[in-house]
Amino acid sequence: MAPSYQKSRAMFEEAQHYIPGGVNSPVRAFKSVGTTPPFIARANGSRIWDVDGNEYIDYVCSWGPLILGHRHPAVIHAIQRCLERGTTYGAPTDLELTLAQMVCEALPSVEMVRMVNSGTEATMSALRLARAYTGRNKIVKFEGCYHGHHDSLLIKAGSGCLTHGVPTSPGVPEDIAGSTINARYNDMELLEKIFSEAGNDIAGIIVEPLAGNMGVVPPANGFLEGLRELCNKHGALLIFDEVITGFRLSYGGAQAYYNVMPDLTCLGKIIGGGLPVGAYGGSREIMQMVSPAGPVYQAGTLSGNPLAMSAGIATLEQLQQPGVYQELDRRSALLAQGMAQAARAAGVPVSLNRVQSLQCSFFTKHPVTDFASASTSNTNDYATFFRSMLEQGIYLAPAQFEAAFISTAHTDNDIERTVEAAFNAFKAVAEG
Ligand code: PMP
Repeated sequence: MAPSYQKSRAMFEEAQHYIPGGVNSPVRAFKSVGTTPPFIARANGSRIWDVDGNEYIDYVCSWGPLILGHRHPAVIHAIQRCLERGTTYGAPTDLELTLAQMVCEALPSVEMVRMVNSGTEATMSALRLARAYTGRNKIVKFEGCYHGHHDSLLIKAGSGCLTHGVPTSPGVPEDIAGSTINARYNDMELLEKIFSEAGNDIAGIIVEPLAGNMGVVPPANGFLEGLRELCNKHGALLIFDEVITGFRLSYGGAQAYYNVMPDLTCLGKIIGGGLPVGAYGGSREIMQMVSPAGPVYQAGTLSGNPLAMSAGIATLEQLQQPGVYQELDRRSALLAQGMAQAARAAGVPVSLNRVQSLQCSFFTKHPVTDFASASTSNTNDYATFFRSMLEQGIYLAPAQFEAAFISTAHTDNDIERTVEAAFNAFKAVAEG
């Protein structure tokens, strides 16, 4: 029997009267997959349930923070313990100190860190700092990388901007857009040209060390090393946006995984354990420029929020357990193998990229190495696939250009069920 979405549909209808598009973040509206979103009522482990009572195996995991799955007991317990003592004080706490220490110990390039409330805030603040430190204005970013929605970086961005076709948003002043230079992911030649022309004006390069907002696109051999060298040569800062990859690719993030050290690192998602958090950090020399230690202003009413710090600390403690990343990798590999097999069986060309617990099945026969090759994906086929998976109780990202997130809560049985569903869904694609 086809699942009913009656209550969700009524709520979505109503929500559109009060919230633009009915959602508080664009991709949640399911626009590009030609359906409407289930409204979620509760979650546990690898599962979520909607208001109509439908159960799903969840591969969105709140877009990355929930590497331990939903309602991990250690995280819930830490939040509850903290809640008994209050929700926010607007004053320093030991929790901020603990999480800052954990972050600095985990990430090889980070000596000091400042907590903020979102990934957007982290990258916005990191750019301000890079500009202040270098005394330069221009920033290089890569087409298809998404770093949040502030003016400087909302240019040829990934994620919802790709899905909703917004290369540069109206409302971004031209002179701000003009200080952002777009480059191509994995293309060192173009970058060298950019630096040979504008090297003295470039404050920094911001990059997702593994791109997770145009699907999943790993850095080519030597790409991150090339960025490092270019920045050294021209006195620019290398900024890794590890909002997705931090504590995801390894406990030391992408920088430890690929062994390339940035000057500044942006974090979010996992370090908040499912509560709103972001952070940016780097060497003591650079971070000492941030107010009140230095002149670069940046502040936040709820920054370092105790509940978020508690959830983050509890999450990182779990990730310190031996074997966690090996196990995530094994399960993710199992899913990738199953997906590839299911696609082959149905004769649907799919190009699958996977690194650790991040993966994306692109509906294209071309290898995906950058934005242009990602764009060869057939998004209509993805939409068909997505809807079939949803009806079978598998909740994937509602857009082609997003990652699937595997958590420690996903069991081998979950993955088996997902692959079974994928056989049917690919068949539906093949049948058009
Ligand atoms: N950077 C990256 C790499 C991201 O994936 C995201 C969000 N998905 C952001 C920054 C922005 O984070 P937030 O949505 O918390 O503002």
